[in-house]
Amino acid sequence: MSPLVMAGEGEVCTWLPANSPVEGVSYPLSVPYCGRCGMPPEYCEFGPDYEKCKEWLQTHLPEEFEKLGVDAGETDEKEEKKRQKRGGKAAHKTVQAKKAPQRITLSKAPRGKRKMVTVVTGLATFGIDVKAAGKFLGGRFACGSSVTGEDEIVIQGDFVDDLFDVLPEKWPQIDEDLIEDLGEMKR
Ligand SMILES: [Zn+2]
Repeated sequence: MSPLVMAGEGEVCTWLPANSPVEGVSYPLSVPYCGRCGMPPEYCEFGPDYEKCKEWLQTHLPEEFEKLGVDAGETDEKEEKKRQKRGGKAAHKTVQAKKAPQRITLSKAPRGKRKMVTVVTGLATFGIDVKAAGKFLGGRFACGSSVTGEDEIVIQGDFVDDLFDVLPEKWPQIDEDLIEDLGEMKR
């Protein structure tokens, strides 16, 4: 046998597997596993049902549960943030509507081949009852109007120019400068 080959074999033998013992750690390691998802508790978060995992851990492995560094309140907040991040567009919209700056927007949209509708938004940001405003505007322009959203009125016809006069006249809190003409918008 060649000594070179022996050396080669020796090298292979010095190779340590990745999970070889580490100094200062007692073996065998007792790794607790979550009874819900079967993963170590620190991975429960990524499991299918973190809430259920936490319940299980709290009951069966309270120490591990504490290591997660969560209490019920914190968790709810986290979950809440996650949900918002995931694009609760609706939730975001609601918040925006409440805090929206006072501003009226007027836009036109084609309706059928020749007709236009005028879309008024933002009346609610001035504390105006949108439903009542819709009725008033419909009467004022003698045409149909309807409340089409939380803070949106659609009037049948093109009344953008008129609204620049009518809105501040009817509701003095609306300054003409706070009315914006968005032009023609697709709906
Ligand atoms: Zn789990």
